Amino acid sequence: MSTTRVPATPGEFAHYVAHPRFGRRPRLTGLDVFNTPDARVYCHWHSPIGVRVPNTAVVADVSRQRPATVAVTHYFDARRTCRKCSRPFLFFAEEQKYWYEALAFPLEADCLECPPCRKSEQKLRAARERYDALLLQTARTQTDTLELVTCALGLVESSVFAVKLLPKLRGLLKPLLVDAQGSSYAPARSALDRLKRIAALRAERRTPPRQRRGRRPK
Ligand SMILES: [Zn+2]
Repeated sequence: MSTTRVPATPGEFAHYVAHPRFGRRPRLTGLDVFNTPDARVYCHWHSPIGVRVPNTAVVADVSRQRPATVAVTHYFDARRTCRKCSRPFLFFAEEQKYWYEALAFPLEADCLECPPCRKSEQKLRAARERYDALLLQTARTQTDTLELVTCALGLVESSVFAVKLLPKLRGLLKPLLVDAQGSSYAPARSALDRLKRIAALRAERRTPPRQRRGRRPK
């Protein structure tokens, strides 16, 4: 199906979060449909009138959807507000087709986060999985230890892990900092610097701002 983009007029979509593939503006298909009483046309309940963008309908292949009481026959580009960063974005009709047909997600699944927030969430999940795997490893090379510490630092920065993990990470870096000629020295050094920066930042946040007093002249 050919799609055209809504012209770049100053409109409501100008400040929407861009999708890496579809951009930030609706993709007009020229198709606009409405629910019929016999459900021969049934638009997704998460995209009611006002939420969906007119003329962006894409026909669903209901045979590929997970069985549901009522099959969704058309997807529309739908307006969303990210639950994480509160910015507006579009859940594109073609994305929905991919979710509910190719990936066979249940029709109840909804997209609640904008693409960048989803991406950082995925990265954190991957870092967490990698960290857990490395932690279970009985014999870790220096490269493994560095990766473990790097994953953990990212997770502390994102508040997935608590700052109290930092001393342990510092301990893991210690043996890598013994030999200044070693190949792990430089990356371990920069990991330690990053660790110190995180610790300083967190300490700063914990300390209430001091009342400033003017110095008395002698
Ligand atoms: Zn977001």
